Amino acid sequence: MTLLFAQRDIATTGLAQPLIDRYGRKIDYLRISVTDRCDFRCVYCMSEHMEFLPKSEVLSFEEVVQIASAFIARGTRKIRLTGGEPLVRRDIIQLVERLGSLIGHGLEELTLTTNGSQLRRYADRLAGAGVKRINVSLDTLNDVRFREITRRGRIADVLDGIDAAAEAGLKIKLNMVAMRGVNDDEIEPMMAFAHGRGFGLTLIEGMPLGEVGLDRVESYLPLREMRERLAAKYTLEPTEHRTGGPARYDWVKETNGLLGFITPMSHNFCESCNRVRLTCTGTLYMCLGQDDSADLRSPLRASTSDAPLHAAIEAAMRHKPKGHDFVIDRRTATPALARPMSMTGG
Ligand code: SAM
Repeated sequence: MTLLFAQRDIATTGLAQPLIDRYGRKIDYLRISVTDRCDFRCVYCMSEHMEFLPKSEVLSFEEVVQIASAFIARGTRKIRLTGGEPLVRRDIIQLVERLGSLIGHGLEELTLTTNGSQLRRYADRLAGAGVKRINVSLDTLNDVRFREITRRGRIADVLDGIDAAAEAGLKIKLNMVAMRGVNDDEIEPMMAFAHGRGFGLTLIEGMPLGEVGLDRVESYLPLREMRERLAAKYTLEPTEHRTGGPARYDWVKETNGLLGFITPMSHNFCESCNRVRLTCTGTLYMCLGQDDSADLRSPLRASTSDAPLHAAIEAAMRHKPKGHDFVIDRRTATPALARPMSMTGG
């Protein structure tokens, strides 16, 4: 049933052209936020008393698959599920299985970004659905600090979830938002932990998205500085390794592992951006750091034909901004965007 549904969409577009924006960038990577809800309230991501969307606003799984299929028909090769926390959406595995059935039918990779709290429950079924690798967000290995950063999470659940994912054969990359005065003393221990277990580690610069519970100026840590610190202790060998996203990787000789850097603040890579992001309500954001968006839910619901949806996607590509222009300094009191990361999906 799922497959038939997907194939109908692909078939109707025939030999469709790939999605190219007005700067000539090929868009072949779709991130889908399946829920804005999360079981954590990370201080840099959302406010403590976050108000979530009413469930009635959220796309059904059928609608998500229909939009995903339209993108696949236009050359999307990689889909990442995110949120909020994707694994707290009810029956999420059904969506993963439906999207997983599209692998080999245009889609090359289905992956997800998770905080890891529900992985013990889902790891086997994710692997069974065709997911091969996942990103797990982990900013500290210290349980007290973990609770302070997430405001409610239990690190034991996440570590157990990571074990479950490794046992299920999923390839794991840890993502760590590096914050001055918060967790910058833990980069080396985190690298030892990740590489010791055969996982990659990617460091991320905090971005000014949404009013949250953290002083963005105080905590901002340019990763160039961190790389210099690490290069004084380790042999960092630049690599051409890419995972379809914005990270640039070094191979760390002493710990035998990949160390990635995502540097939206100090050095953006917008010129090679290949991504767009769908929210759980069907809004397509063409850039994480700009407000340009397109409503895909209305054209999807307006007709039994896929034509209006395809037209809306095509039009959206013409509005993909050249790049973001995040700034973090004392004079810029308000965040670059009111929209928190949890809404657009990281
Ligand atoms: N709940 C999932 C998770 O924790 O991975 C998926 C959603 S979360 C919004 C995706 C990623 O965005 C996480 O790695 C998180 O650390 C990161 N993130 C959230 N807010 C951020 C911000 N303001 N700057 C940089 N990274 C951020």
